[in-house]
Amino acid sequence: MDALLEKPGVAQRAAALAFVRKQIVFLDSEGSEIEKNIIEVFPELQVIGVDANGVAHERKFKPARQGDTRGWETIDEALFTCEAERIVRELNQVLVADECPKEDRSVILLPGIMFLQTHETIGHALELDRILGYELAFAGGSFVTLNDFGSLRYGSEKLTARANATVPNSPGSFGYDDDGVPAQDNLLIDKGILVGAITGRQMVEEANATARRQIFHGSSGANRATTFYRVPIERMTNINIDPGTDGNLEDIIKNTEKGIVLDGDKSWSIGSNREQFHFATEIGWLVEDGEITKVVKNATYKGETLKFYNSLSAVGDESTWEVKYVDNCGKGQPNQIMQLGHGVPVCRFDNVRIGE
Ligand SMILES: [Zn+2]
Repeated sequence: MDALLEKPGVAQRAAALAFVRKQIVFLDSEGSEIEKNIIEVFPELQVIGVDANGVAHERKFKPARQGDTRGWETIDEALFTCEAERIVRELNQVLVADECPKEDRSVILLPGIMFLQTHETIGHALELDRILGYELAFAGGSFVTLNDFGSLRYGSEKLTARANATVPNSPGSFGYDDDGVPAQDNLLIDKGILVGAITGRQMVEEANATARRQIFHGSSGANRATTFYRVPIERMTNINIDPGTDGNLEDIIKNTEKGIVLDGDKSWSIGSNREQFHFATEIGWLVEDGEITKVVKNATYKGETLKFYNSLSAVGDESTWEVKYVDNCGKGQPNQIMQLGHGVPVCRFDNVRIGE
């Protein structure tokens, strides 16, 4: 695989594999006896090049999880060969591309950046321990309050998000959480309205008591610990966006007057309460009057979480939906690293500031 990346334009290359094996035996005083043996393989290809100004650019590939396995069998040689050629080609396009313009445009996020948008501004914002203030000293809080459940308009009617721990073979699917609660598929945002959170047994009790009403009816089965000597805390399962009815990527591009297609997470900066964000992506393709015109480099976008999701104007269909994984989500003191997934479609947001 390495030889496929050793090409003109590539100054540095990496073909990496990370492995996770978890053996969990869960016993509790309520009579649960749960044994789990979970194996994950996280492959990645990455190429880095330097443009004429001496600025480094990168392009990478991480496969989506839509197969019927999650182990070594996910290493599909034909797929990796094809994707290696693509990332080298796209890196070389970025190296000679014009700068991303500084202006407002519609941004069309491919799953390769939409997963991170979802992770940072829906997933982390809806972890109940953060909402209650338990992560303030480390990972931050959330702009969401207990009063918001059932009424806050988080996004446009096109936004339906869920925590679905039953997606086959995703790292966010694990059978039972570390409270012994079975995997569930729960709505977080229903047609734009905030209706649920990522919860464990203890925080649900505390939140209901604090709010003096029953916001949450039982744990959503999202309490996990990295190992036996760490306390389980609320962790994302698979935080997904439902596919929409706005067609495939070509259809969405065709219906966009002035936009930019973005892919690949390069850097991210998020408000400590997840109220605003700034992301740099690996590549951008400008869209003018329904057609892609050219590649640009140093593509970035930023926004305020609620305003951004309320500007969601197109959601791609099932053909655009991919399960991306996160193998290094950090949270808690002492720090715990967790693995999870995001099933996301192509999404278009309007009037977004890009290029700065
Ligand atoms: Zn995270």
